[in-house]
Amino acid sequence: MTISIIKKTLGFVLLSMSSLQLSAQDIIAHQATSDRQMKDISTIKAHKILNNANLNNPSADIYSSWDNSSKHSVSGAVPSNFKIDLRGFCMPTPSRVVTSKFGYRWHRQHQGLDIKVYVGDTIRAAFDGKIRVVKYDANGYGNYVVIRHTNGLETLYGHLHKHLVSPDQIVKAGQPIGLGGNTGRSTGSHLHFETLLAGKAIDPALLFDFPNQDIVNDYYIYRGERIQKEARTSTSALASVANEQNNLESALATADKKPATNSRRNTASRKVAQSKKSKTYQVKKGDTLYSIAKRNGMSVKDLCKKNGIKQTAKIRAGQKLKC
Ligand SMILES: [Zn+2]
Repeated sequence: MTISIIKKTLGFVLLSMSSLQLSAQDIIAHQATSDRQMKDISTIKAHKILNNANLNNPSADIYSSWDNSSKHSVSGAVPSNFKIDLRGFCMPTPSRVVTSKFGYRWHRQHQGLDIKVYVGDTIRAAFDGKIRVVKYDANGYGNYVVIRHTNGLETLYGHLHKHLVSPDQIVKAGQPIGLGGNTGRSTGSHLHFETLLAGKAIDPALLFDFPNQDIVNDYYIYRGERIQKEARTSTSALASVANEQNNLESALATADKKPATNSRRNTASRKVAQSKKSKTYQVKKGDTLYSIAKRNGMSVKDLCKKNGIKQTAKIRAGQKLKC
C-alpha cells in the first residue's frame, strides 16, 4: 500500500516536472496564481491518495486480511463499539417493498432483508468499496456479490440474475453491480440484502429504510453484545469513538482553532484559581466538623487548621468556617 502511494506521488511529481519543462513561459505568465494552484492541487492529490489507499484496502483497521473465497472468509474481531458512517450511501434498489425481514424464520436465522425486485432490475453498490466476493451458491444465495466498504461494513447482494462486477474491482456508491434475479434458494425474484460488520450480520432495516428510500440516520453505532452489562463503560467508549471522529474532522477542517483553545485554557486556569481560593461555609443545624470536611472534600485536620480551631472544638449553627 505504501509503495503504491510512493509510486503515485512520484508519478505525480514527474508529471509536474515534465509539464514545467514543456511550458516554462506559461508558468511565468501565471506565476501570481501558481502558488495557490499548487496548494489546491496537492490538497486534492493528497485526498485522492488517501481515498485510493482506503479503497484498495478498505477498513484495514477492522479486517486483517482480504479473501475472495466466500462471505464467511472474514478475519478480524467484531469491534465492541463502532460508528458506521452511512452518509455516502446509495439505495441498492429503488424498490420500497420489503418481502421478508431480518431475524428468525422457518427455524433458521434470516441474516438479511428481502426486497422485491424483478429479473433484470439494476442492483447498485450501497457505498464506495471493493468487490470481495463474486460467486454462485446453488443452494443458497445463488449469484451473489460481497462488497467491503470504506466505512467498515460489508454488504451482500443475493439471488442475482447476473453479476456485473469482478473480484477486487473498486466500485463507487451507486455503481451497478448486478441484475436482480431468482437464482439459488429463492422462490420469486427478489434481492436478499445483508449488512455485515466483521462477519456479524446487522439488521439492514436499522441502517436502510427501504420504504422511504433513505438511510435511518447519518451514523449507525454498532454496540457489542455486552453493552447492557457495561452500559457506563460502553457509553464512555462510545464517547471516545465520537471524540476520535471529531478530532479527525477538526484535523481535516482548515479553520483556525487557536482562539478556541486559548479560551478553553483560560477557563481551565480560572477554575484552578477558584479552587485554590477558600470558600466560606455557614454551619447548619446538625453539622459536625466531619460532615463539613467531607462535604468540602477535605480532612477534619485541614478544616481545623484553616480555621485555627481544635478538632474537639464545638461548632454552632450560623457560624462561618473557611473551607
Ligand atoms: Zn433473504
